[in-house]
Amino acid sequence: MVSDDQTTIVIDVGPDFRQQMLRESVQRVDAILLTHEHNDHVSGLDDVRPYNFMTRKDMPVYGLPRVLEDVRQRFRYIFEDNPYPGAPRIKAIEITPYQSLEIGTIEVLPLRVHHGSLDILGFLFPGFAYLTDVKSIPVRSLELLSGIEILIISALHHKAHHSHLNLREALDLIERIGPRKCYLTHMSHEMGLYAHIQAQLPLGVELAYDGLEIEL
Ligand SMILES: [Zn+2]
Ligand SMILES: [Zn+2]
Repeated sequence: MVSDDQTTIVIDVGPDFRQQMLRESVQRVDAILLTHEHNDHVSGLDDVRPYNFMTRKDMPVYGLPRVLEDVRQRFRYIFEDNPYPGAPRIKAIEITPYQSLEIGTIEVLPLRVHHGSLDILGFLFPGFAYLTDVKSIPVRSLELLSGIEILIISALHHKAHHSHLNLREALDLIERIGPRKCYLTHMSHEMGLYAHIQAQLPLGVELAYDGLEIEL
C-alpha cells in the first residue's frame, strides 16, 4: 500500500487482501494497480466491495490490457451488463509502460519488467520503486531505477526458478541498480528464517515482513 495524506493506492490484491486491509485498519483505497494477472496478485479482487459500499464509487483498477482482459474473464460476474446488486464495482483502466499517471496526489510511472516469458509491470514512485515477480529487468527500466533511494524487489528463494529471481540473482541486480536501501519481498518459505538470512545480506538490504512501514 502506498499512501500520502490524501491518496491511498494498493498494488495487487492477493488472496489475503481482506486480512491485510483489516489488520492495518485501512479505511479507504482510492485505486488498485496490478503488476500482472497471476492468481496470487488478483484473487482478492472481490474484497473491494466494502470500499465500494463506503465510497459509492467504482474502484479504479489499473493494469496492462492483457491483465485487465484476464481479470474480466476471472471475475465475469463483476463485468456483466447487469451485475448482481452488491457485486464489486470496478473501473478497469488500461495503462502503458513508461507513461506516467497521476492517481489523486500520487505520481507513478509503470515500468516494464520480465517475469520469465511474461512482460509485467513494476511501479516507480518519486524516491522508491516496487518490483515484484521479477526475473530480469530491461535496460530502459534499469536506467530509470539507477541509484534510486528505496527499492523493493522480489527474491523467491535460493534455487534457480524459470520466472523469479533467486536471492543470489536479486543481490546481483540490486548491486547494479545501487539503491540506498533495498527491501526483499515475495519470498517463499524456502528462503529460510529471518535471523539466519538477514545476517548474510549486504548492508542496506533487508528482508521485508508483513506490516513493514517505510516513511519517505
Ligand atoms: Zn507471477
Ligand atoms: Zn507472484
